[in-house]
Amino acid sequence: MSACALRSWQRPGYQKHSQQVPARSVARERCFRYPGGVAMRTCTDCQLTKPLADFTPIKGTRWTHTRCKPCRAARARAGRPPRVAKPHAPPGMRICAGCGVTKPLDDFSPTSGARYRKTTCKPCRAAMAKTAYVPRPKRQPPTERTCTECGVTNPIADFLRIRATRAGVYGRCRACRNARARERYHSTPSIRAAEVARASRNQKARGLRRRLQVQRAKQPEAVDTP
Ligand SMILES: [Zn+2]
Ligand SMILES: [Zn+2]
Ligand SMILES: [Zn+2]
Repeated sequence: MSACALRSWQRPGYQKHSQQVPARSVARERCFRYPGGVAMRTCTDCQLTKPLADFTPIKGTRWTHTRCKPCRAARARAGRPPRVAKPHAPPGMRICAGCGVTKPLDDFSPTSGARYRKTTCKPCRAAMAKTAYVPRPKRQPPTERTCTECGVTNPIADFLRIRATRAGVYGRCRACRNARARERYHSTPSIRAAEVARASRNQKARGLRRRLQVQRAKQPEAVDTP
């Protein structure tokens, strides 16, 4: 019988899958001294030989950094600016994150839906909102409009302005409005009489307004004080 007759689990040194050592740690153990079966490494900073677990692995590789974790931490700390303790405000007060002034809590608006307050004071927040505010571009009035009766799109000048509004115009064009008014005027004698009365009333009112305007222009103080 040849050696090939032995199945893998019959060969010396066979390990169940769950007992197998990952290739990565095998490679590490091969590279470093390991008394007592633990992979060790000597730190290049403190010169101490420590278990490999005390060295940070280099991400994406099978290697570790050459300095131990405490030595790396010390170097990182030395490179950072020293931590300055944050000043504490007395109870009921808060130091504004904007102006740095210590103010009572009432000067900080509550956060909506939470029991916390904003970190910047009300005046600071108001100033911030003012600088951030960008006015919305004003809506320009339309230059043309489609008549709701004849369906023709005409320039806005062909529509009657609605007196009390800034830029409102009636939905029907002047031609359609005029046609309607004419139709109504000629419909019945009573409507016609009413329209005639309304027209003369309006004319009288216009005349009165014009005269009053002229009077006001001549002597403004005499009209204002009765
Ligand atoms: Zn070290
Ligand atoms: Zn402030
Ligand atoms: Zn029309």
